[in-house]
Amino acid sequence: MSLFEKITTPNGKVIEQPLGLFINNEWVKTDSTIDTIDPSTGKKITAVYAASEKDIDAAVAAAVEAFENESWTSLTGSERGDYIFKIAEIIKRDAELLASIESYDNGKPYEAEALAGDLVEAYEVFKYYAGFADKIHGQFIGAEILGKNKMCFTDPTPLGAVASIIPWNFPFMMMAWKIAPALATGNTVVLKTSEITPLSALHLGKIVLEAGLPKGVVNIVSGYGKDAGHHLASHPDISKVAFTGSTATGQKIMEAAARSNLKNVTLECGGKSPYIVFADSDLDKALEWGFSGIFYNKGEVCTSTSRFFIEEPIYDEFVEKFVKFTKENSKVSHPFEKGCTIGPLVSSLQYEKVKKYVEIGKKEGAKLLSGKFHEGDGYFCDPFIFADCTDDMTICKEEIFGPVVSITKFKDAAEVIRRANNTTYGLAAALFTNNITRAHKVANKLQAGMVFINSNGDSDIHVPFGGVKMSGIGRELGTYALELYTTHKAIHVNLALDD
Ligand code: NAD
Repeated sequence: MSLFEKITTPNGKVIEQPLGLFINNEWVKTDSTIDTIDPSTGKKITAVYAASEKDIDAAVAAAVEAFENESWTSLTGSERGDYIFKIAEIIKRDAELLASIESYDNGKPYEAEALAGDLVEAYEVFKYYAGFADKIHGQFIGAEILGKNKMCFTDPTPLGAVASIIPWNFPFMMMAWKIAPALATGNTVVLKTSEITPLSALHLGKIVLEAGLPKGVVNIVSGYGKDAGHHLASHPDISKVAFTGSTATGQKIMEAAARSNLKNVTLECGGKSPYIVFADSDLDKALEWGFSGIFYNKGEVCTSTSRFFIEEPIYDEFVEKFVKFTKENSKVSHPFEKGCTIGPLVSSLQYEKVKKYVEIGKKEGAKLLSGKFHEGDGYFCDPFIFADCTDDMTICKEEIFGPVVSITKFKDAAEVIRRANNTTYGLAAALFTNNITRAHKVANKLQAGMVFINSNGDSDIHVPFGGVKMSGIGRELGTYALELYTTHKAIHVNLALDD
């Protein structure tokens, strides 16, 4: 197998797809490969080279060498910012190609989501952190605080060679969220993509070469989680792992980090987020935001609000209108078809997982009002709406990560807060009401890293993103992400020697 393959995407773009690992600014082959599948057809798109432990060692060694030879850290912040901005500009220029490969590999709607969402955000993230590269400096703490003859300053220093491990639901965007702040703060990186959607992030290697970054600063590996991912998370020369994925894997990564070298860890994990609609809400808007909150990206979104709580007086009306709204606004189709809102689920595994949960929902007595699996090739299904659910049902407790919503009713704010918080997760929560006092009171009590008032799923690159409880540790995006990749060295100076 060669290192590149010309791939024609379903919308006719011809793309030179890298297949190798990207180590030390070179494409390299390995001893094994991973097939990547088009979820619209179930057919193979291509195969990429998969990293073994030995290959991970080589990628880590390249990142460590680049950090130690100071090819990256000896640049001024402004020079590093220029490189990062170049990456942003290339992403913007190639957005259609990159969005095409993303939709092809993942199944997300090309126009509305991959192009208008993920690629725009990836560009914005690199541009945003490019601007920070020369604005990271420390504090000075003088004698008026520390006492006579003493002074101290802090030096914000990068952590070293860091690892990024990303999932399959927003591959290119998750890459950007991690790589841009890591580079802006002076770290070097080994990125491991998901074995299910490895294609788009490999293009970062081409972009890095074109932007002219020194070798070893960015390294990209494809590989399986249990071996390549585990080896990376356990590596003694890696000083941090930034992970996005399931809570179960997050726990393994934390354990690997603890057992190896106590490396710094940030985790963006799963969720089972509530969507609370009070009777005084603007119902039309609540339907719209409820729909996007659960069905965007086929429900394969960590913040998706998969548990709807509707206040009793409007429960029947809401449910009826939500089913109608969903039917009218879902276009389940090939992701490149114009107007597609819901493409195929990412893989046969995910398709079977959603099937399993739909069966469990029915068996446990939830009322299925809408939704079906499509026959034929690909992993297509219509959105599933379950009503009259109870909190003890499996579909109300476990993260399904697909287009499945469970709807229940509630009596008052105190009850819904208690029930919404009755989960091990705490990523996001959304609520609708026209009562401003209640909106803030409820938002204040919800155990979630992000709360959306009269909207849903409103992530923004300027605002910290992350969860509490078993949804994760740390915050990405905004200025908060800079802290994830920086340590603060305190330099104490004694001025008393010649007294
Ligand atoms: P996953 O945990 O199966 O895999 C994520 C990544 O971890 C992949 O690259 C995988 O290869 C790797 N991995 C797997 N086992 C590993 C191990 N033992 N050691 C090191 N790496 C390992 O998750 P997924 O199925 O790709 O993604 C879906 C999950 O991600 C959902 O639970 C979703 O909620 C979560 N997610 C969270 C966020 C967030 O920001 N909180 C965003 C997107 C997805």
